[in-house]
Amino acid sequence: MRIVVLTGAGISAESGLATFRGAGGLWEGHRPEDVATPEAFAADRGLVQRFYDARRAQLRTVAPNPAHHALGALEADLGDDLVLVTQNIDDLHERAGSTRVVHMHGELLRARCEACDGQPPWTDALIDEPACPICGVTALRPDVVWFGEAPYHMDRIQQELEDCDLFVAIGTSGLVYPAAGFVDWARRHGARTVELNLAPTDDEAFDESWAGPASEVVPTWVEHLRSPRAS
Ligand code: NAD
Ligand code: ZN
Repeated sequence: MRIVVLTGAGISAESGLATFRGAGGLWEGHRPEDVATPEAFAADRGLVQRFYDARRAQLRTVAPNPAHHALGALEADLGDDLVLVTQNIDDLHERAGSTRVVHMHGELLRARCEACDGQPPWTDALIDEPACPICGVTALRPDVVWFGEAPYHMDRIQQELEDCDLFVAIGTSGLVYPAAGFVDWARRHGARTVELNLAPTDDEAFDESWAGPASEVVPTWVEHLRSPRAS
């Protein structure tokens, strides 16, 4: 059985990383359009670099929660039959043992060079505008996909959605496209569809909904899936 799991900000919430539209619709005190668009970067490069520098530094203070660990264990069981597509830019899946992770919105722990298009691993700040380690030009930005930019790996993701038997969305609001359309795509190509969220999103494209905090619901769902009687 081939499985595609799609994760969103909700799976990392209990690790201490704020979701996109948390308190008051703000992301860590900012309107998403003020920090997560190319226009925002052009208008105030320092503000955006500082915002992502803070997110990158914050990663060092958090750890994967039982939901990340359960998915790491599931990959150990299923190997190539499991693909983990994430909208998250954190590295908590990798730290919990997942290796088949497709970061469709990029990664905090990489920079992208506007001069050479290189994507060097990056753990430090960008506010001081360091030179690109690949080409030497001073043109590094966070390697994250902003609103209005094309997500990464879409061809591969589309193929995986068409080929899978089970599609599972975890901790994602279903509001940010194109990821919000994945459930319809997978369903149209014959997959059973399941969502795990704090509260059901009321999207009729899901055959099954599990409600509750990811740290509890994801390990329970994984256990159910691994039990010999699960269909
Ligand atoms: P979102 O913030 O729009 O939605 C989060 C969803 O998670 C909601 O449906 C909410 O009900 C659910 N949720 C919240 N707490 C939960 C919990 N404890 N257990 C289970 N579910 C929970 O997030 P999104 O749909 O992923 O879209 C946001 C965009 O913001 C993404 O594209 C992502 O790149 C970016 N983002 C990433 C991070 C991260 O990397 N950790 C954090 C914030 C935002
Ligand atoms: Zn470069």
